[in-house]
Amino acid sequence: MDFWADKRVVVTGGSGFLGRQLVARLRGRVKELGIPRSREYNLVNVEDCRRCMQDFRPDLLIHGAAFYGGIWINELYPGRIYYENLVMGANVMEAARLAGVTEVVQIGTACSYPGHLENLLKEENLWDGPPHETVWTYGLTKKMLAVQGWAYKKQYGMDSIHLLLTNLYGPGDSYNPDRSHVAAALIRKFVEAVLENRPTVEVWGTGRPVREFMYVEDCAEAILLAAERYNDLTPLNVAPGAGVSIRELAELIQDLTGFRGQLQWNTSKPDGQMVKVLDATRMTQHLGWTPPTSLREGLAKTIKWYRANKAEADQRF
Ligand code: GDP
Repeated sequence: MDFWADKRVVVTGGSGFLGRQLVARLRGRVKELGIPRSREYNLVNVEDCRRCMQDFRPDLLIHGAAFYGGIWINELYPGRIYYENLVMGANVMEAARLAGVTEVVQIGTACSYPGHLENLLKEENLWDGPPHETVWTYGLTKKMLAVQGWAYKKQYGMDSIHLLLTNLYGPGDSYNPDRSHVAAALIRKFVEAVLENRPTVEVWGTGRPVREFMYVEDCAEAILLAAERYNDLTPLNVAPGAGVSIRELAELIQDLTGFRGQLQWNTSKPDGQMVKVLDATRMTQHLGWTPPTSLREGLAKTIKWYRANKAEADQRF
């Protein structure tokens, strides 16, 4: 029998960029699917969290709701990122415990890793230092979710897993320049430069930082496999396990969009962490799976989607 068939499942953040991909894969496959919307359940409020769990009574909860984005949102809204993510995480876990939820899948982030390390980041490196200052609050609030998972297992026997997601990209991302991550930001800039016949595209920083990129549909696949196959308090990386420099990424997007002008490096914008690439060894071992979509293929699909949905994508914060 399918692991999911007899389960009542709730996905917080189910209408977001990643959440929509999770929901699309779970719909019709689970016994009941709950997607709490923020206008009905404000997860920053503990009473709303309790009501949410009482209304949906999930067996399995995927906590994906978060206020987050690229390097610039961390510059603009560090207070909101701190408060909303910390309180939402604490409330959702506590409400899940009180409602007798048997398994929680926590969506964590590569930003929780120490900011100074330049090796492939292994799960055992997680506590080797503080996150990079550009993602300090986001990285730490997500890391506290893993601590809560550990504490709740120890005291209450509640099961949870903590997944450390690398940078995602794909259809349905935020393309707003204040919020977007680099892949979405550059796709928008190059597509617009081609449309408007502009001679240059501005790219932030020096181009030297290294990041890795996971296609959002692959990531959703990995999260569901992890829920089925992984059951350990040690956080698990979810990533392709290979990085590219921002310069390489920019040149790839330039090539795929057909932009013929010049790149202009704006070094007054921050580089952030120099290397943020996750070691995917444990993920491959535990899930028996590797992400199928290459960066070139995923970017090509994303650019096609963005061109077809530009007006709507540009509106979304
Ligand atoms: P990070 O992974 O948390 O640092 O977040 P981002 O995805 O926003 O940024 C990754 C890297 O891409 C940083 O070094 C940025 O300076 C660089 N970058 C280059 N151009 C852009 C851009 O237009 N927007 C964003 N968000 N980052 C850019």
